[in-house]
Amino acid sequence: MSVEDEIKFERDETYDDYITYLKRRIRQLELQVRTLEADKERLERELSRLRMEMSRMRQPPAFAGTLLEMLDEERAIVQNFNGPRFVVRIAPWIEREKLKPGSRVALDQRTMAVIELLPSQKDPSVLGFEVIDKPMVSYKDIGGLKKQVQELREAVELPLKHPKLFEKVGIDPPKGVLLYGPPGCGKTLMAKALANEVHATFIKVVGSELVRKYIGEGARLVSELFELAREKAPTVVFIDEIDAIGAKRMDETTGGEREVNRTLMQLLAELDGFDPRGNVKVIAATNRPDILDPALLRPGRFDRLIEVPLPNFTGRLEILKVHTRRMNLKDVDIKAIAEMTEGASGADLKAIATEAGMFAIRSRRSYITHEDFLKAVDKVLGGEQKLAQQIAMHEVMYG
Ligand code: ATP
Repeated sequence: MSVEDEIKFERDETYDDYITYLKRRIRQLELQVRTLEADKERLERELSRLRMEMSRMRQPPAFAGTLLEMLDEERAIVQNFNGPRFVVRIAPWIEREKLKPGSRVALDQRTMAVIELLPSQKDPSVLGFEVIDKPMVSYKDIGGLKKQVQELREAVELPLKHPKLFEKVGIDPPKGVLLYGPPGCGKTLMAKALANEVHATFIKVVGSELVRKYIGEGARLVSELFELAREKAPTVVFIDEIDAIGAKRMDETTGGEREVNRTLMQLLAELDGFDPRGNVKVIAATNRPDILDPALLRPGRFDRLIEVPLPNFTGRLEILKVHTRRMNLKDVDIKAIAEMTEGASGADLKAIATEAGMFAIRSRRSYITHEDFLKAVDKVLGGEQKLAQQIAMHEVMYG
């Protein structure tokens, strides 16, 4: 309470006034006491939280180990790495029903007691896989690419939905599909829409991450990827940036190259091993089809190639229509925008639509004007130079 708030008593006031003053003052002070007590309680809670945090920080590191066998409710046999086995206690806070032989656990350094249940190695997020049970993308969200979507559906959707048809005709459906083309033109989008259409789980893995983030483990991860895919079938496995593991093999001079090759060999082995009529489908994507190892493209592997190029005028118009579907447009000439964005990718066009919306919001408007779009084109594409570069690069790489 501030000093100004305090009620002052003047000497020349009456006795009754004095009593009233004292009563009010007491009420004020009681209120102050209550506020201070609440503050004290809050600070004590904060202090104990910080103390706990500090004691957690001071804890020695724990060993990572594997639970081999539960002996009873209190004890288990564990092992860390391939060392000796120990009979140890299990901390009371661990949920017993979740402990299974093979579980990864943290072991206290001194007593080796099980103090934490760690996420399984197969936990997709630990492995760096993105798993979506049913992607929220449908074919309606893809602008243009009619021919490409049609080809993808024939290669993947048809055999999944009507496997008997292929049996009757006596041919094997394609095993894997390779989507190639410049970045941001809808490869991931197509794979997601397909997974949605066939009610399949979508598992995405990025080639460059497999080899960079999990050094020495690429091959193991590939085999775990397919194991997970079989578990969750029907599944669409999407391998982005496959060139990071599937580039033409050079002589294995460095450890890094050997590692990449091992990962690729594992991928080829997995592809060779599974049934083309099964319900795990593999779609790979690359921006650099020219550097891929031909072994990957052999029949029975990625034997259906689909180019996903930069969109032409009609494609750009359709992509813009998709991304402005829910926007409140006022006198926007979408055709003119599609015309002036030659060389832009689908991702660029999406960014343009979003930026145009941002310009409207900045001007405190709830509708978007053509002017907003013009400013957005300028902001996203940064002048014609970038577009000219994109077109030139596209021509060099994809003909
Ligand atoms: P990368 O090679 O970089 O992985 P990509 O070809 O897989 O690129 P996407 O991830 O599919 O590109 O596209 C990025 C975003 O751009 C999408 O989420 C989507 O919003 C938009 N986009 C790209 N192409 C299209 C398209 N044809 N129709 C509608 N939106 C598109």
